[in-house]
Amino acid sequence: MEIFELSQSFTTEAPAFGTAVEQFEMQISGQLIRPGDAVYEQARRLWNGKIDKYPALIARCHTAEDVATAVTFARHHNLALAVRGGAHNSNGFATINNGLVIDLSPMKGITVDPAARTARAEPGLTFGELSRATQAYGLATTTGICSGTGISGATLGGGTGWLMGKHGLSIDNVLAFELVTADGQQLKASATENPDLFWALRGGGGNFGVVTAIEYQLHPLGQILAGMVIHPMSNAKAVLRFYRDFSSATPDDVTVYAFLVTLPDIGPAVILMAGYFGDDLAAGERLLAPLRQFGPPLVNTVQPMAYPDFLAMLDPIAPDGRNYYEPAYSVKQFSDAALDTLITWAGRMTSPFSAILIHHIHGAATRVAPDATAFALREPHYAVIHDAAWEDGLAETHVAWARASFASMQPFAMPGVYVNFIVGQQEEAVRDSYRANYERLAALKRQYDPTNFFRANQNIQPALK
Ligand SMILES: Cc1cc2nc3c(=O)[nH]c(=O)nc-3n(C[C@H](O)[C@H](O)[C@H](O)COP(=O)(O)OP(=O)(O)OC[C@H]3O[C@@H](n4cnc5c(N)ncnc54)[C@H](O)[C@@H]3O)c2cc1C
Repeated sequence: MEIFELSQSFTTEAPAFGTAVEQFEMQISGQLIRPGDAVYEQARRLWNGKIDKYPALIARCHTAEDVATAVTFARHHNLALAVRGGAHNSNGFATINNGLVIDLSPMKGITVDPAARTARAEPGLTFGELSRATQAYGLATTTGICSGTGISGATLGGGTGWLMGKHGLSIDNVLAFELVTADGQQLKASATENPDLFWALRGGGGNFGVVTAIEYQLHPLGQILAGMVIHPMSNAKAVLRFYRDFSSATPDDVTVYAFLVTLPDIGPAVILMAGYFGDDLAAGERLLAPLRQFGPPLVNTVQPMAYPDFLAMLDPIAPDGRNYYEPAYSVKQFSDAALDTLITWAGRMTSPFSAILIHHIHGAATRVAPDATAFALREPHYAVIHDAAWEDGLAETHVAWARASFASMQPFAMPGVYVNFIVGQQEEAVRDSYRANYERLAALKRQYDPTNFFRANQNIQPALK
């Protein structure tokens, strides 16, 4: 119904608009997808199958010029805008009803400079693609923990991942962004060009423009020692206490996450997923030995491997198209009572695909000053995601589990959670995440996007004059 009305208004009720759409299509080198086109159904879909929106137009951009044209078109015609990178945002910010989607997924160019140890990467790349391209030179930068996540949405929010203990967040490795701002201008932001914008883009999400390229600092990375150890949920109390103590004491070279899941052949289980990212595998063996021995685990897959293969290990756990609802919060440190509460709620999961995911933010990522970039949550902590994931049953049942389990953990939570993990467009949660940086971000938002044109995101409101 919604689509039909829109098509009508483009072609019949507003012929001038229909002509403008045709001109727009001729101006871009990429593809313009309309409702009714064969690829529309697939093109409007995101990683989270629960999101079911119908954009008026999807502009699959190939170049920064295409992006600038699309931004100008949307502004001129007062169309709401969504920006799509890897489509992994679980709120579905990458699409919008009745508006224009700037789809960056065809923009997958990457140039690696092995001598300077840098890469210039386009925003349609996933972390898997970025890591494979850099690994060819024995180099890497901080990526998220699985292959499918888009580099641009994740990096703009901060970018937590396996290498953050050693090399900081993804944003701590960004040397420059190229972007199109709300007025259609193409700009570069780096330490020397538009440094205020560079500060804001390192954590400020999609609030300041459409990023068309990111230049990353790379680091040597050979074989890593990594994998999963898997314990039965019946031993979760001891395993999570071990996890808390082990992760709190890990050196920068080691990162460990914990996942409470249900596995096909094992049933309810706790996965400790870990990697050693230093340059001495024998030292890695010693550092990971307690993790491999504790329990002992039912399964131990820790072994030398290439970093991109480690990223690929998690992809089957979070496939495209499943329904997801995943509220998150931060915990400074887990008390025994907090761990017991998590275990109780893990036992009440309503779907075999649901999980509780514990990410450990530590090391170099936590030694950057909170005001050095927009990303303010620089103290060591854990980000905990209550991930309701389902293919069958009523959405309300699964969402209710996520909400109730999330609520029961709030007495143990600290204010603020990583912006890319905020569910919904909650102004208070966004403020909590940016803490004292919010006012500076709001002032920059007023400077670069005074009408809040880029608002399908974890939104920073332009400061009032
Ligand atoms: C399975 C899974 C694992 C994850 N693991 C991690 C992890 O380890 N570490 C981590 O940090 N995050 C992780 N995330 C969260 C991730 O950071 C966010 O989902 C992020 O939004 C993904 O970026 P994207 O480009 O894929 O998203 P999209 O859904 O395409 O984009 C989300 C929003 O980001 C903004 N955006 C995206 N690209 C651009 C651009 N080029 N210019 C301007 N704005 C843009 C827009 O506002 C857009 O709506 C994970 C998510 C999933 C689903």
